[in-house]
Amino acid sequence: MAAKGDMVYAWAADAACQEKGECGGAVTALLTHALESGMVDAVLAIKKGQDIYDAVPTLITDPAEIAETAGSLHCGTLLLSKLVKKYLEGAEDMRIAMPVKGCDAMGLYELAKRNQVNLDNVLMIGLNCGGSVSPVLARKMIAEKFDVDPDSVVKEEIDKGQFIIVTEDGQHKGISMDDLEEEGYGRRSNCRRCKMKVPRQADLACGNWGVIGDQAGKATFVEVCSEKGANLLDGAVKAGALKTGAANPKGIEIRGKVENAMLKLGDKWRAKDFEGLGEGKERLQKIMDATSRCIKCYACIENCPICYCVECSTKKSYLVTPGQVPPPFMFHLIRYAHISDSCINCGQCEENCAMDIPNALFMHALQADLQEMFGHVPGVDMELPVLALVEEQTERKRLSDTGSDQIFNIFE
Ligand code: FAD
Ligand code: SF4
Ligand code: SF4
Ligand code: SF4
Ligand code: SF4
Repeated sequence: MAAKGDMVYAWAADAACQEKGECGGAVTALLTHALESGMVDAVLAIKKGQDIYDAVPTLITDPAEIAETAGSLHCGTLLLSKLVKKYLEGAEDMRIAMPVKGCDAMGLYELAKRNQVNLDNVLMIGLNCGGSVSPVLARKMIAEKFDVDPDSVVKEEIDKGQFIIVTEDGQHKGISMDDLEEEGYGRRSNCRRCKMKVPRQADLACGNWGVIGDQAGKATFVEVCSEKGANLLDGAVKAGALKTGAANPKGIEIRGKVENAMLKLGDKWRAKDFEGLGEGKERLQKIMDATSRCIKCYACIENCPICYCVECSTKKSYLVTPGQVPPPFMFHLIRYAHISDSCINCGQCEENCAMDIPNALFMHALQADLQEMFGHVPGVDMELPVLALVEEQTERKRLSDTGSDQIFNIFE
């Protein structure tokens, strides 16, 4: 019987699934088993759309269709969490299994804290994540740095620090990610700063790091992170859908080292990006200058997993004067005030911004400061955010009883 903390190599029993999968198809086999066995009512996964730059989220209720979602798409920069809230009623009445990168899992936890997603109904198959590349920049990078027509690329992967492409005539080309990033290409800037490399708040954490020897590329390293995850793994093995083997001890060590190296790299990018913003008034001025390009398209709010309010304060005329473009700075201040303690640095507000304003950088810099001050880490568990709403009546009574003038007594 598997248990939390166990680490195994896993691969699909079915040869076609093994072949189609990114690293042996274990995740596809687990999702298929979850649906076939009735553990869940549906699977929410990603499949390739028009090309490798087009990652399409798909809700599946027929197990035969899950195979279409096998493989990793690094140039599709979508976030799955808000889709669960927006289109699947927060999984309130539907049990869903889904592959989740670190940011997907973090977003689900933040929505769950706000009662917008029912985590009891979500089975999270975590994917380790070194980062993703914006589709627009990926095309530019492939044309300019690889000297290859982006439309001729049929497969991309990030392996051993390289961004590798495979073209339709079978050519393989790889360039070091560090070199690409030094020149302004490579992973999205939020991904460079990301430190959620192995999503252990999911039920299982799966990835290629640590799979060595003959099995490299043919199996996935699975860490069991919850009882739910252990049950899924056991069930899939028992049903003959998944094969597992002991993880190579050397592989376990390597996986730990790679994870640590990635965390250090994340710290390096944080220091660089945040220092570049300056501090105090200088930072404020930079933020005000950049946001003065805003056309109030609302994409940042629409795509942020923390923004879920039916009545958004930015639409209240007494807070943000309507009809002005760019909107008054209050529009952005409201978002900073509401979200900065919980920002998961998913990058959606930047990726989707019509004016290329580095919104995620601004919010992440604030979040990092708040984390340093109050120790609250968003997206890892169900701990409420620093600026959690209080019960109004209870709070009024507390203020009246104590004579305190502090609305949020965060220092207690
Ligand atoms: P498969 O059976 O091929 O299933 C893959 C699953 O991933 C499918 O369900 C598919 O829907 C889903 N998926 C594909 N693209 C996305 C996406 N963009 N967002 C969410 N879900 C997606 N592992 C590491 O150890 N180190 C890494 O640095 C690393 N980086 C990754 C970066 C990205 C963007 C992704 C998606 C995965 C990454 N992985 C990484 C995980 C690794 O690539 C494999 O997904 C994992 O080993 C499982 O392999 P498999 O054959 O079992 O998966
Ligand atoms: Fe991966 Fe982190 Fe980027 Fe999400 S934010 S895609 S988890 S590197
Ligand atoms: Fe993601 Fe931006 Fe919202 Fe932060 S503010 S959680 S980066 S969308
Ligand atoms: Fe809610 Fe504030 Fe986001 Fe508007 S900006 S949706 S009020 S959290
Ligand atoms: Fe303004 Fe960009 Fe947000 Fe649109 S996405 S409202 S342009 S900051």
